[in-house]
Amino acid sequence: AFVTGASRGIGRACAISLASAGHRVVLAARDLAKLESVAEEIRATGGTAFVSAMDLSSEDSIRAAFKQAASEAGPITILVNNAGITRDGLSMRMKREDWDAVLQTNLTGSFLCIQQVMPAMMKERWGRIVNISSVVGESGNPGQANYVASKAGLIGLTKSLAQELGSRNITVNAITPGFIDTDMTAVLSEEVKQRMLAGIPLKRFGKPEDVAAAVR
Ligand code: NAP
Repeated sequence: AFVTGASRGIGRACAISLASAGHRVVLAARDLAKLESVAEEIRATGGTAFVSAMDLSSEDSIRAAFKQAASEAGPITILVNNAGITRDGLSMRMKREDWDAVLQTNLTGSFLCIQQVMPAMMKERWGRIVNISSVVGESGNPGQANYVASKAGLIGLTKSLAQELGSRNITVNAITPGFIDTDMTAVLSEEVKQRMLAGIPLKRFGKPEDVAAAVR
């Protein structure tokens, strides 16, 4: 199982959960030191973990990471496209580079990762692809046009690929988490957090483990 963005937050929880379910996991992200420490955590509990430095904004880096992963861990039959970034701002003043960075990492990067795993999944006649989208990909959110476009794009990508690949016994699903307590949401103001909390029936934010359970 290859998990992108496994160095922290939701991806870390997914990697730990899949490893505890008996899967050999490959942890990918840019920060190799953080990946190593999550891998150590997994190995300490008897799991099997590999690390692969990868930057989703570079196609060469993605190719190299999957090549390394396949040679060390074997064919990848589970992919969790979890890595993602935000560059929030109102559209009128949004810089082109902030639009491009978010679309490149969240949407194009995910598509390129899927292309890397498709041949092995077809050969094995089995595959599981899980894309981490977001509730805002369905609802929209002011100040996040780039992020929302990338997450809505992921939903469309998921539905199309599910139809392309279903006959090969490869399922493609998306999960659309609400507010989850991670580094990504830690930067939000107390006022924004309180407003969001008010709209959550359980009156608590989600935990990375909640999403990991759905992925598993
Ligand atoms: P996070 O704590 O900020 O972690 C993001 C992960 O993505 C890190 O492991 C990061 O590692 C990796 N990453 C970022 N840019 C990358 C790049 N260019 N190449 C490779 N890896 C990269 O975020 P999170 O909250 O766990 O979110 C995980 C996913 O869930 C994201 O797709 C996010 O949009 C989605 N989501 C989150 C929430 C929420 O409330 N937190 C809600 C809905 C959906 P490095 O920095 O080491 O590369």
